[in-house]
Amino acid sequence: MTYEAILSENRLEDVVQSYYRMKRTGSLYRSTCPFCENEDLEGIKKSELESFFVNPRTQTWTCLLCWHAGSAVDFIRMIEPCSFKEAFKLLENRIKIRRKENGI
Ligand SMILES: [Zn+2]
Repeated sequence: MTYEAILSENRLEDVVQSYYRMKRTGSLYRSTCPFCENEDLEGIKKSELESFFVNPRTQTWTCLLCWHAGSAVDFIRMIEPCSFKEAFKLLENRIKIRRKENGI
């Protein structure tokens, strides 16, 4: 499978929500950031702020506090954590499993 196929068949919001619950706010999804350090930001823990955004239209995510950002592959790489190749495989497997479930 190509990189484009992997990304077009794995909606970023579904990939993230298989790890993390997000709230829908308008056209975006929002949650606390899994990558923010537990450091203090003027009396508030960074990890408790909802600074993580997923944009379903552009299929990108970004955190406004730690500035990590990227695609579904980048998200998997960081959350697992694993290599680019392993993240790619994992997303490819999600497609295969879904196809099997749907009998395709
Ligand atoms: Zn962050």
